Amino acid sequence: MKKIAILGSTGSIGTQTLEVVRENQDMQVLGLSAGRNIDRLEAQIREFRPKLAAVWDMQAAKELSIKIQDTNTQVVSGMEGLLALAAMPETEVLVTAIVGMIGIKPTIAAIRAGKDIALANKETLVTAGHLIMPLAKEYHIQILPVDSEHSAIFQCLQGECRETLSRILLTASGGPFRGYTQRELAHVTVEDALRHPNWSMGQKITVDSATLVNKGLEVMEAKWLFDVEPKQITVVIQPQSIIHSMIEFIDGGILAQMGTPDMKLPIQYALSYPHRRSLPGKRLDFSQLTSLTFQAPDMETFQGLPLAIDALKTGGSMPTVFNAANEKAVAKFLHREIRFLDIYDIIAEAMARHQKIPSPELSEILAIEEETGQWIESRW
Ligand code: NDP
Repeated sequence: MKKIAILGSTGSIGTQTLEVVRENQDMQVLGLSAGRNIDRLEAQIREFRPKLAAVWDMQAAKELSIKIQDTNTQVVSGMEGLLALAAMPETEVLVTAIVGMIGIKPTIAAIRAGKDIALANKETLVTAGHLIMPLAKEYHIQILPVDSEHSAIFQCLQGECRETLSRILLTASGGPFRGYTQRELAHVTVEDALRHPNWSMGQKITVDSATLVNKGLEVMEAKWLFDVEPKQITVVIQPQSIIHSMIEFIDGGILAQMGTPDMKLPIQYALSYPHRRSLPGKRLDFSQLTSLTFQAPDMETFQGLPLAIDALKTGGSMPTVFNAANEKAVAKFLHREIRFLDIYDIIAEAMARHQKIPSPELSEILAIEEETGQWIESRW
């Protein structure tokens, strides 16, 4: 029996993880968690009967305790609650389906407790990859990618000798605004940005896909997961989202992982690794696939990607500033306080004023997040 805890079970990745668990009799969920969506969490608790449920919001946690007092699930709250969930003694793997840098501390707690990590929360590696990857090595735990692109790379690498990897070709759909000019982007709305052509995801990552910040975060994530240099990662626009990413070997050979866009495949692969399992769902029908196209990303218009590459090359604490500024800017955009293109300006200004710390400790990373957020609040 694979015993699992899910950080962020009420979100897009969290609910799809539960769909995977539902289909696999030998997987059991022992811990669930949410920010404050206790209605959805209650339904999940009643179906999956976990030992522990962590709710970030204290008041919501209290309400949930009352609602589920007829069950055996214990409710915990705040960061303490998330840490308890991450390190619960009975589990083998933590699915990090939480959004944002809040995922860092629980991920560290899980690694220290010997749990494998099925990693969706890319913000953790982007900002603290230099702490997380050595820690995973020290504790002999596996970081199993859930992000579809990284899972694709991971799948392509199976059975291959790592020294023969020449480059990663990270694919991107290009998002809802592919082909737009700067002038057109100036007028897009929240609703436009949330209309992703191929994937149904949480709001923050959907906006990140529209700005191409998501692809930038994925470049940074790939650097840590696969231990490659920035120059070994090339972003390729693949608008149909059929090729989920590719790797090129030193002899020029390329392997691609393909399929219909469905997050359940990478989630299940991470949970059943090293085995592949049957997964019901739509199959790729090549007789219906009229075209498979490729483009270079438009780095002039979609500055999320060049800013991310700049942050990655600068290194140290700069990716944290990039990420923290983006998290704040996207929240402001979703609250209709700023326009779409302001997201780029906010990230660029936050990076320009930052004095890099070469190898920041966790406390410094969290302080930079706080300080960046406060600066943006005072300025925008
Ligand atoms: P969602 O916004 O759909 O879900 C986020 C989850 O995190 C929810 O369960 C939410 O709870 C919970 N959460 C938010 N804040 C807190 C908090 N302070 N404490 C505890 N729980 C909290 O996000 P996604 O599922 O789309 O994305 C999750 C992560 O996975 C992100 O890092 C994203 O980049 C990554 N990812 C997502 C993909 C996708 O297809 N969606 C693909 C690849 C990566 P509540 O419901 O109560 O708000």
